[in-house]
Order: sequence, then C-alpha cells, then structure tokens
Amino acid sequence: MARIVMKFGGTSVADLDRIRNVAQRVKREVEHGNEVAVVVSAMSGVTNQLVKWCTELSPLHDAREYDAVVATGEQVTSGLLAICLQSMGIDARSWQGWQIPLRTDSAHGTARIQSIEGAELVRRMGTGQVAVVAGFQGVAPDNRIATLGRGGSDTSAVALAAALKADRCDIYTDVDGVYTTDPRIVPNARKLAKIAYEEMLELASVGAKVLQTRSVELAMNERVRVRVLSSFSDALANDTEGTLVVDEDEIVEKENVAGIAYSRDEAKITVTRVPDRPGIAAAIFGQLAEQNVNVDMIVQNVSADGTTDMTFTVGKADLPRARAALGEIKGQINYTELLEDPNVAKISVVGVGMRSHSGVANTMFSALADKAINIQVISTSEIKVSVLIAAEYTELAVRALHTAYGLDA
Ligand code: ADP
Ligand code: ASP
Ligand code: MG
Repeated sequence: MARIVMKFGGTSVADLDRIRNVAQRVKREVEHGNEVAVVVSAMSGVTNQLVKWCTELSPLHDAREYDAVVATGEQVTSGLLAICLQSMGIDARSWQGWQIPLRTDSAHGTARIQSIEGAELVRRMGTGQVAVVAGFQGVAPDNRIATLGRGGSDTSAVALAAALKADRCDIYTDVDGVYTTDPRIVPNARKLAKIAYEEMLELASVGAKVLQTRSVELAMNERVRVRVLSSFSDALANDTEGTLVVDEDEIVEKENVAGIAYSRDEAKITVTRVPDRPGIAAAIFGQLAEQNVNVDMIVQNVSADGTTDMTFTVGKADLPRARAALGEIKGQINYTELLEDPNVAKISVVGVGMRSHSGVANTMFSALADKAINIQVISTSEIKVSVLIAAEYTELAVRALHTAYGLDA
C-alpha cells in the first residue's frame, strides 16, 4: 500500500468523458489498496477565459478579485470529479484550498504556499476516502482566496505530497513525459526516462511549461518523487512509465544539453541614449522593481558619446506597467526613446553537463548563424544558455538546436 498524490491538468479534465477517464484511473489506484489524494486543474481553456474577463473589465484589476474569479475553474472540476467517483462507488469528497486549509502569503495572483494542514485529509484517506483537492488555490492571511500563478496546480500537488508525506506525486498531463524539447514543436524529440531536479527547474523557468517552476523547486527541497506521465495512455503508473525527476547523481549518462525550451512570453524594451554614468542602471531597474516588474535578460551597449542604450526583457503581461513606470522617470534619467518589441522569443539550452564541458554556447551560436537567425540578447547561467531572437524564428531555432546537440530521436 502506498499513499499517492495524483494531479490532472486541464486537458485531462477537459470534459465529462475525460473526467470519467480520470475517475477510472483513481479507482484503479484505490483498488490497489492505495490511499489517494487527487489534485485537479480547471477544464482546459477555462482559466484563460476567466483571466480574459478580468482584463477586459479592467486591465489593472484588483488582484484579490482576480483570484476570486480565476479560482472557480478548479472548484468546478473538484466537485465534478468527486461526484463521478461517488457514482462509481468510491468514497470521495472535494476540498477547496480554504477548507484544508492550504495557506499562502499575500501575493494575490502569484501567491506562495506557506503551510498545509494535512491531518484531516490523512485521517480520511486512512478510511478509504479519496480527497479531491482543487489545485491552484489557497487562502491568504487576509482570509481571501489566493491563486498560485499560472500552472500552479503542479505546485499544489507537490506541496500536498510533501505535507501528506506521500510516497509518490504523479503528474498526469497530455504528453507521456518530459521530452528533450516540446514534442509539439519537434516531433522527433526524445522522451527522457529521468531528468535531474536542477535541469527540470531550469527548463521550467525558461518556458517548458510541463511543470510549474515552483513545483520543481519544492520537489527538490522536500525530496518529493515526482513523475510526469500521460492521462491518456492505458497503462497503470509504474516505475517505467513517464519521466522521473531525480537527483543529479541518479543520472548515469549526463548529456551536455538535456533539453531545449522556448518562451514567447517576454517583450524587449530598449531605453535609448541614457547618460553613461553610475546610478543609471539602479534608477531604471529600481523603478521597475518598485512596480513589481520582473526583468529577465539585460544588455547594456557600449557607449560612444557618453550615452548608452539599455536593452532588457520583461514579461509580456508586464509591458504596460513597465512603460508607465519608465515614463515616470523620463525626466530623471533623460533617455531619448523607449522602444518596445513584443515579437521576440527566448530560446534556452539547459544541461548539468555544461558545468564540465566547453563549447556549448558556441554550438548554439553557430547553429543559429547557419539558419541566418540573428541573436539580439544573450544570457547564461552555470547550466543554461539563453538567446533572444525574433519570434517568427522560434520553431526553426528550436529544431536546428535540437539537431545540433544530437538530441533528435
Ligand atoms: P497541464 O494542463 O496538464 O498542466 P500543460 O499544458 O501545462 O499541461 O503542460 C503540458 C505541455 O507542456 C505539453 O502539452 C507540451 O506541449 C508542453 N511542453 C513544453 N516543453 C515540454 C517538454 N520538454 N516535455 C514535455 N512537454 C513539454
Ligand atoms: N488552471 C490554472 C491555469 O491554467 C492552474 C493549472 O492549470 O495548473 O493556470
Ligand atoms: Mg500545467
């Protein structure tokens, strides 16, 4: 007997037939004698619609009301799955974040989990009752509903697995594991049997949305055994299915590059002809930080005439706020123009093998040059190289790099 957390994403609960399929899977685990908690996402497309409604009514809406709206998608699916399980003779009940309670900090819209009160769930799971938990949501210190950021049900699942001391956290999705890159873009991407926490963390943070970044961070810190697998295949979760996220030492053959990710969620901003003197970067990025705008890649051009151009990227959704924030300090830093380009993509190659091998960046630059793709900004970390390119070349670049690093199946 094992205690397991099973998480089902949006496409896995997209309609009643899929919910029935999920219930069958849960039933099988229960019949194997396992104690089961299930975490569900909203039906696919629902969260997007809810977000759109908030933004249409007011682009700078109250984040607490946004949370009240967007958390409803998961409330619906948790209730529906509980109904479905009950109709199949399985004891089950739904849990909203506030009922558990799953407590978060007060960062509405991107809240972090602070604690989970798991005792009552464990007690009931011991009696055979399935806990069907609404993912993505919790309750903030102001006693209002908070959501965990897009893709947050993964984090709900891993956090719950840690709190319940579960033996496994199975993340069911619409692909059968983690691949060397998004299999929707590169059909001959290879499925990885195992991936290191560090690599998965880096891939998630640069755009591979198969797992939310925070869920990987949490799994790494809390030593949760996370497996990514398909809710559409028929096999029962076993040790050979899907992709297991593991410690680096568990991976015998370390590739220089484990995977490639892309993100079209960034926008490029250039502040032209700012004075080249101490304090300018602090003024620009301090102002953006104050307005909660996250800055990712940064490049400062050489100065020719005592002025310089500062180029950086922000999340696309933050572009209006960044524009307003920089408008406020125009007088103070004396730039000439604020240029914006939302049509960019960030392409990243990730692998722990980079620590001990040189030439990884150069392979990337050459492969892109061969396809005549211009690199606008570069950034690196110990196990990652990222470049910013025109968005129209995203797929071409990912495919070319996949081949260049010998990752094609
Ligand atoms: P869910 O709704 O189940 O949470 P997501 O859409 O959030 O599913 O994540 C699954 C998707 O992640 C896949 O459909 C795939 O297109 C995308 N993806 C991006 N990079 C990868 C990768 N390296 N391996 C597998 N899937 C990836
Ligand atoms: N429904 C939420 C979203 O679409 C959370 C999730 O699916 O993980 O972002
Ligand atoms: Mg997801």
